[in-house]
Amino acid sequence: MTIKSFHPPQRVLMGPGPSDVSPRVLEAMSRPTLGHLDPVFVAMMDEMKVLLKYAFMTSNELTMPVSAPGSAGMETCFVNLVEPGDKVIVCQNGVFGGRMKENVERCGGIAVMVQDDWGRAVDPQKLEDALKANPDTKVVAFVHAETSTGAQSDAKTLVEIAHKHGCLAIVDAVTSLAGTPLKVDEWNIDAIYSGTQKCLSCTPGLSPVSFSEQALEKVKNRKSKVQSWFMDLNLVMAYWGGATKRAYHHTAPINALYGLHEALVILQEEGLQNSWARHQKNHLALRAGLEAMGLKFVVPESERLPQLNAITVPEGVDEAAVRAMLLSDYGLEIGAGLGAMAGKVWRIGLMGHASNPRNVRFCLSALDDVLGRIKAPVQHGVALDAANRKLAG
Ligand SMILES: *Cc1c(COP(=O)(O)O)cnc(C)c1O
Repeated sequence: MTIKSFHPPQRVLMGPGPSDVSPRVLEAMSRPTLGHLDPVFVAMMDEMKVLLKYAFMTSNELTMPVSAPGSAGMETCFVNLVEPGDKVIVCQNGVFGGRMKENVERCGGIAVMVQDDWGRAVDPQKLEDALKANPDTKVVAFVHAETSTGAQSDAKTLVEIAHKHGCLAIVDAVTSLAGTPLKVDEWNIDAIYSGTQKCLSCTPGLSPVSFSEQALEKVKNRKSKVQSWFMDLNLVMAYWGGATKRAYHHTAPINALYGLHEALVILQEEGLQNSWARHQKNHLALRAGLEAMGLKFVVPESERLPQLNAITVPEGVDEAAVRAMLLSDYGLEIGAGLGAMAGKVWRIGLMGHASNPRNVRFCLSALDDVLGRIKAPVQHGVALDAANRKLAG
């Protein structure tokens, strides 16, 4: 048998990521590959840093994409900032906080968990209490936008509390970057990581990170070596850092970086604030349609993410069968529940390029049809009108 070229079908990606990739990004990625030390490529890297600083709203010198997915950005923050024996408070309100705990422990740190209900924001008072009970804590970590539940936490307040107790703050912004307000310098965030496949609408596989001066001081003055050679920022900076000489560390994913460069140019053209507003507007339209059908949101209104809409699966409905029908009949992907929410919720993403009125209408029409066919207990024929009123306003 001769295996032929792989031609994926055209889908509409409205899950928890990856989101639809802009055709401009895909086109940029098909341009000629350069050497990773070619001066033309190095000049592009410098632009990339400028663009990422814009997206993160920071002037941090160490702002760059890690050559691996969001999970590697997470590891980069933990392996560099946590030394064996360090106490780290992890605020958990979903799946990704659990991964932070794993990271702390694999670095030889001591994880103190502060638990909140899944589907709710992190409670600042619980963090304050935990810091008072653990005055020897070095680092506080939390997820700004919990993709597993659709909850948004108050990053500014949580970082303030961490600093009041002399701790550095690590923030997961994989799903928040470009989708919802995020101000690294104004909020004094010490170390932050994101991903390319959520609200930046780039292909998966890169993780933008940013470290403050203070965080970098800690990395430079560690007592022990960073346990990961690949993610040791002291070494990575020989390639990404400095204005003068660039030295080989690893071969950068050249064409993937062209894609991220283009995604960030698109973001800059639109404007960060306009991108946040667009995510909010499309969320409100989708919400109006879903609620008109009688579907319920998991997260209370004031803590909801516009780019990740978690809704409860109606009683008696086979949630996997609905997703399978959406995929086969409409080429539409929405997300299943993760962890404790598996089987109980759907997660509808309106991320980046995919956050647009056409997708809002498409998703509502498709859901109306599929839920009608399986005789789910929802209102039919009303969702589009409700969404249209919001989109017109
Ligand atoms: C998607 C996601 C990650 C992991 O990113 P990958 O690119 O899948 O490794 C981490 N944290 C949050 C909040 C995410 O949504």
